Amino acid sequence: KRTITRLPEWLKTPIPSAGANPEFAKIKADLRGLNLHTVCEEARCPNIGECWGGSNKAAATATIMLMGDTCTRGCRFCSVKTSRKPPPLDPHEPENTAEALARWGLGYVVLTSVDRDDLADGGARHFAETIRRIKQKKPTLLVEALTGDFMGDLDMVKIVAESGLDVYAHNVETVENLTPYVRDRRATFRQSLKVLEHVKKVRGNEGIITKTSIMLGLGETEEELWDALRELRKVDVDVVTFGQYMRPTKRHLAVEKYITPDEFELWRQRAMDMGFLYCASGPLVRSSYKAGEAFIENVLK
Ligand code: SF4
Ligand code: SF4
Repeated sequence: KRTITRLPEWLKTPIPSAGANPEFAKIKADLRGLNLHTVCEEARCPNIGECWGGSNKAAATATIMLMGDTCTRGCRFCSVKTSRKPPPLDPHEPENTAEALARWGLGYVVLTSVDRDDLADGGARHFAETIRRIKQKKPTLLVEALTGDFMGDLDMVKIVAESGLDVYAHNVETVENLTPYVRDRRATFRQSLKVLEHVKKVRGNEGIITKTSIMLGLGETEEELWDALRELRKVDVDVVTFGQYMRPTKRHLAVEKYITPDEFELWRQRAMDMGFLYCASGPLVRSSYKAGEAFIENVLK
């Protein structure tokens, strides 16, 4: 029985090796002593050479996972392990993370986490504390937080939004119609829109960038995707990214379609025409893909 789905050519990329790029090799070596866990390495992200090793060191980007490796939710596209009661938070994590990041020579960090519906505040204060400490120690480090929806508790969104970060990201992941099949049942498209809308309410339009990500290839129609983008623009979301959905294991949702690089480029142009500030779009794009470079080119210019 055949179990391997044939991948289109454009998805067969080699994992970059440290030898190929001296800057990348150096960041990797620095990381060893810092006891930081990057999603980039742990998920064997194919973009690591580009994100860590671009020519502009101030734009080097990495993604760090906070609050453990066990999620209280079970989205059908995600391979993170699940439990109703994950281990308690490490109270030293905000300080240790800030200390390590201040010493690490990168320019842009994405902080993300599992969803912690078991905690009264969903982990909002832990997130905010980590961001505050990073900014105290290294104010020039650009910080993006990629959070869950805090079960729609907008007071928790406010706590993170006011912590000093530069970019607030929350992913809608897919179009509205597919949300019940793709994301955990506690997540809804409307609730995610409210999270993104609230960030702008709290911080205003000038002080912060909002961002979301959509996986393509789950069976969404063009019209559904247009609708999703219109809804996102209505609540002033600044940045959208599109990437190919990849099935992590056979127990996860199947890929309905491999979107071609040309189609990704078409959607990037469409998003730009709709007024998004910038859009990363491509088969291997993840929401954090070269986020530092994009921010520097489009926001700080
Ligand atoms: Fe994975 Fe996030 Fe869903 Fe948890 S909430 S299962 S980490 S996608
Ligand atoms: Fe890391 Fe995200 Fe870049 Fe992948 S796309 S290397 S996870 S920052």
